[in-house]
Amino acid sequence: MPTPGRTRIMTVANQKGGVGKTTTAVNIAAALAAAGLQVLVIDMDPQGNASTALGINHRAEVESIYDVLIDDVPLAEVVAASPDLDNLYCAPATIHLAGADLELVSLVAREQRLRKAIAAYVDYREREGLPRLDYVFIDCPPSLGLLTVNAFCAASEVLIPIQCEYYALEGLSQLLNNVSMIQKHLNGDLAVSTILLTMYDGRTNLAAQVAADVREHFPDLVLKAVIPRSVRISEAPSFQQTVMTYDPSSTGALGYLEAAAELAERAN
Ligand code: ADP
Ligand code: MG
Repeated sequence: MPTPGRTRIMTVANQKGGVGKTTTAVNIAAALAAAGLQVLVIDMDPQGNASTALGINHRAEVESIYDVLIDDVPLAEVVAASPDLDNLYCAPATIHLAGADLELVSLVAREQRLRKAIAAYVDYREREGLPRLDYVFIDCPPSLGLLTVNAFCAASEVLIPIQCEYYALEGLSQLLNNVSMIQKHLNGDLAVSTILLTMYDGRTNLAAQVAADVREHFPDLVLKAVIPRSVRISEAPSFQQTVMTYDPSSTGALGYLEAAAELAERAN
């Protein structure tokens, strides 16, 4: 898997819930980490599902991304190593993050707080002689509030998971409009770089139809790799694991491995 030669920061976003954002963030992160790359997942969803899947403690009393965003606690103080895999780190989310969308409103540079925290963390790693991060994945909540705006301002790429079901494209134009607005006003570097088709059920015509539709609309963005619907993928988080370690030979793990390789290939 090629190294990007810089820190690639990707926001995993889609304002629909349950489309595979978190699953995609943690499993692509795990696949890249398993290949020896340095990967950080930032959990920006108050539900903390990415933290859970990576085996990171995110009980209310833990210092978390909430403290980074609201109280200027350095990211270095909240980043924890995932017990699931080497080279894989996570900044956890706790339930406190649920109030952050509102609390951010009155703060200075409210849209840029995550961006600044990541930049300071990248500097910190360099100062401490730690290996440079190859990838940062930011897992977004299913909304387009200030948490997601912070994620957009911190990243240069957006990765959109699309569930191969009815209404897959619904809401997508709103998401793309938001990305354009951010581009215009807050972060000129931002672009949608990648679309990943998830929960693909090869037995149905509908899934094939939706996949064909999305590919027709976004020929350059959609990865060739498709993530199949797989029970192993949905079981892994209850063992505080990604599917990469839970069942590395499952179709789901292979799908994410392929997606990660393709994403890495397109780095430069
Ligand atoms: P989001 O973060 O967009 O809300 P999740 O990643 O949490 O979505 O996925 C929603 C649910 O679907 C979770 O229970 C997850 O385990 C399950 N899931 C995600 N991807 C797959 C898949 N490829 N096959 C089966 N279940 C999946
Ligand atoms: Mg999620």
